Amino acid sequence: MLAGSYNSLLVLFSLLVAILASYTALDMAARISTARGRAAHWWLAGGACAMGTGIWSMHFLGMLAFNLPIPMGYDPGITLLSLLIAIAFSAFALWLVCQKTLPWPRLAGGALLTGSGVAGMHYTGMAAMRMAPGIRYIASLFVLSIAIAILASGTALWMAFTLRRQSLWVRPLRAGAAVVMGFAIVGMHYTGMAAAEFPLGSVCGAVRGGMDAGWLAVVIVVATLAVLAIALIISVLDSRLEARTAILAESLAEANQELTYLALHDNLTKLPNRVLLEDRLDQAIQAAAREHGRFALMFMDLDGFKAVNDAYGHPIGDRLLVEVAQRIGASVRSQDTIARLGGDEFVLLASVAEPADAATLAEKVLSAVREPFLVAGRELRVSTSIGIAIYPGDGELQHDLMANADAAMYHAKALGRNTICFFEGSMNANVHEQLQLLQDLRLAIERRELVLQYQPKLTAPNGPVIGVEALVRWAHPAHGLIAPDQFIPMAEKTGLIVPIGEWVLDEACRQMREWRDAGHPEWSIAVNLSPLQFRHASLIETVRETLARHVLEPRCLTLEVTESTAMRDADASLQILQQLHGMGVRISIDDFGTGYSSLLYLKRLPASELKIDRGFIRELARDSEDAAIVSAIVALGRTLNLSIVAEGVETATQQEFLTRLGCDSLQGFLLGRPMSADHLIASLSQGNVPQPPA
Ligand code: C2E
Ligand code: CA
Ligand code: CA
Repeated sequence: MLAGSYNSLLVLFSLLVAILASYTALDMAARISTARGRAAHWWLAGGACAMGTGIWSMHFLGMLAFNLPIPMGYDPGITLLSLLIAIAFSAFALWLVCQKTLPWPRLAGGALLTGSGVAGMHYTGMAAMRMAPGIRYIASLFVLSIAIAILASGTALWMAFTLRRQSLWVRPLRAGAAVVMGFAIVGMHYTGMAAAEFPLGSVCGAVRGGMDAGWLAVVIVVATLAVLAIALIISVLDSRLEARTAILAESLAEANQELTYLALHDNLTKLPNRVLLEDRLDQAIQAAAREHGRFALMFMDLDGFKAVNDAYGHPIGDRLLVEVAQRIGASVRSQDTIARLGGDEFVLLASVAEPADAATLAEKVLSAVREPFLVAGRELRVSTSIGIAIYPGDGELQHDLMANADAAMYHAKALGRNTICFFEGSMNANVHEQLQLLQDLRLAIERRELVLQYQPKLTAPNGPVIGVEALVRWAHPAHGLIAPDQFIPMAEKTGLIVPIGEWVLDEACRQMREWRDAGHPEWSIAVNLSPLQFRHASLIETVRETLARHVLEPRCLTLEVTESTAMRDADASLQILQQLHGMGVRISIDDFGTGYSSLLYLKRLPASELKIDRGFIRELARDSEDAAIVSAIVALGRTLNLSIVAEGVETATQQEFLTRLGCDSLQGFLLGRPMSADHLIASLSQGNVPQPPA
């Protein structure tokens, strides 16, 4: 037999390469199992190449480390085949450990296949020497080498499968596993080599003068280390990126949750708000309809709350509301919904078997709230008036139930407060009044009962006047001057708003013409559009004709559309707004901040002005959250190039605060109440701040 010898440096290298390749393979397995879709395939392909190359070069280094006292060489074709075998079983092994489960039978089968692959690679590699006569193998060692290959593969597969999850200890564990695997692979190789016997007089058929074995070894070591290092670096970078993405996604999800919570809950008491209540009510109706069940809807209003507010101020009032909310919450069952509609109005939604149960529940709330409250060292007393509507008897629709519970609550108040009142049909008696009012409204235009008042809009903080808002009133022969809130909703429901709106627009433009002629060419007149008017097919034509009739440039006219109107059916709204904008008319988004505008949509709106809703201005100085919202709206306006108007400015503190926050213009009772055109001009000529008559 020819006596072989080993170059111990190369043996050591082959061990290092085996360990590094094992580590890379384990790392790749983790990558593949966390990656998704196409990325997972790329990781599998890349991982198989890196791991296959690594294991193969370990094996090839081992071959190079082995010397026979005859010239030696390797057949390139067969060598390449052994590399391909290495990549193929690597791919299979990686795929196997990335499955969701790895039961024992599958692990055993996998070990058998992978082990055969490793052995196949090794003995194909040996064959690349093309020895003549052929290599003789010692049967026992040969079998042992294959057994080691299978055992090592099984261990490696199991380790890779368990270590693929990211955890705190995974890196040190993985390093340990890589060392074990490296030794196993090397063990298989050298056992295989020990099994080989080369008869005396053998020649190596693959000798070809060229390549020096030493150089070949260096090239392979360097190339392999490069492949493995690159694979590892990419893998580490990718896992960092993935971790960052995961953190980002998590904080985004949290922010979303927070926003949803805010949109569905009352800020002060943390109770569900109207939106959430309506949703729960819908669900309750559906469930009760399905199961032929019953539930009670109770409207509750605090008696004497306003007095507390006036006497001790809003902060105390707010704290009282929180306490009241807690007491009501404590006296109802956990499955009942208690919501706050704003102010001192609460609503309770509770499933009941009998109307009597509703009465019992309401009594409980009544007596809980009647007990005195201790707020900031003061003893405060309030009571509640509760109106109850029962499904299905008092209404089967959300709207009816709400309206009827509300009507019942007003009755409870009228009965002397601190009482409960069930809804009865007669409570809707004012329906007749409403009908009469509607009859009158139909005739109001021709009877010339509608009038416009004008409220000035000033450059912050106190002038000059840049325009006015036209606000309609109804001078009713019997009821006196009726505010728009009292008849616009009815006009909207019946469609009467369209002729009324046309009249308002015409009258406002006529007045504007007069003011322009009288020397106020820089003013602009703002007219409110209700949702129905805004959607009406004739709107564009009406605006065009009205402007032409009074020979007004479109830029003198501002149309105010509420945020919620503009957001409803966003695409259709956008089209209407674009047509108006195209004509040159200015658009103002009214009551801004009360809807849920999508920023993307807002960016596309051709508006020139945002009007911050009065609700944010009212408690500005003491509510830092409102101040934050106003600043945010101002910042938003700046970015979108919109002018910001604050409406409902009633105090000098608000005026100063809003100016400091960056509002462009202000409107409100402090700077001028809505008043007749004559009065507006008269007060303007007297001083810079127009004031209403005493
Ligand atoms: P809006 O468009 O938000 O109009 C502003 C309302 O705030 C006006 O009430 C105005 O009088 C009031 N206001 C102004 N400054 C202050 C202040 O400092 N404090 C307080 N507490 N309130 C202030 P008004 O005139 O009763 O109008 C109520 C709503 O009726 C308007 O809200 C608008 O939506 C609607 N409206 C008024 N006129 C018309 C109209 O001609 N057509 C349509 N479609 N709607 C109109
Ligand atoms: Ca308005
Ligand atoms: Ca408004």
